[in-house]
Amino acid sequence: MRLILFGPPGCGKGTQAQLLCREFKTAHLSTGGMLREAVSNGTEIGLRAKEIMECGALVPDDVVVGIISERLDRPECGYGFILDGFPRTVVQAESLDKLLREKGLKIDRVVEIKVTDELLIERISGRFSCSNCGASYHDRFKQAKQGNVCDVCGGTGFTRREDDKETTVRERLNNYHAQTAPLLPYYHSKGLLAPVDGMANIEEVTAAIRRILDVL
Ligand code: ADP
Ligand code: ADP
Ligand code: ZN
Repeated sequence: MRLILFGPPGCGKGTQAQLLCREFKTAHLSTGGMLREAVSNGTEIGLRAKEIMECGALVPDDVVVGIISERLDRPECGYGFILDGFPRTVVQAESLDKLLREKGLKIDRVVEIKVTDELLIERISGRFSCSNCGASYHDRFKQAKQGNVCDVCGGTGFTRREDDKETTVRERLNNYHAQTAPLLPYYHSKGLLAPVDGMANIEEVTAAIRRILDVL
């Protein structure tokens, strides 16, 4: 299974990708996650990306395409992959098509998770994640079952993202509408686009995505 989870920041891409990858053993390819790791390790890419990410802009296409190209060759993608947060521009989508052609691979579906901007801001401002395994939580919508203990790994440390402040979030939403949403007609014209209602609760969204995967 090779899937793109598509949608604005905070729509639930990461949450759904984590759940589906656990179930299907596919690789979770989150460019945001990879970039944050590069920043915290102080690598060359991290140094280039840090300030751009802090202000909510997009990292240059060649940087993210390079990261993804390298990941697609890893054995962890043997059962397929779920792309989360990539592609985000038409140039990235075209580069991805070229990469996949060269590797003899095809995307099965582009699942669009639809959520209104008002709810996205609420989703992002309450978001936090496990420092150990990255499992995502929300102050109101997805609390850990036992207070301060991660449901997935039992870890007790949690973090909030620097760029989840309201002003940065608005910038990221503007960038989504200007640079990323134009990919919707691109994938629609290829017959790959499958929308789901992202306003529903986490379990319902997972079920809707499973129904799309069932007919593949
Ligand atoms: P994205 O990866 O698209 O930026 P996340 O998966 O990180 O989004 O979700 C943003 C926040 O909203 C997280 O705190 C997550 O726990 C919460 N969340 C995700 N999906 C839902 C949902 N369907 N209903 C309520 N809260 C959700
Ligand atoms: P969210 O889903 O909440 O927007 P991500 O974790 O996907 O967050 O991305 C965080 C930041 O990393 C983005 O605001 C952007 O600066 C950078 N980034 C992630 N993926 C890409 C991409 N495909 N192209 C350019 N920049 C990216
Ligand atoms: Zn954890």
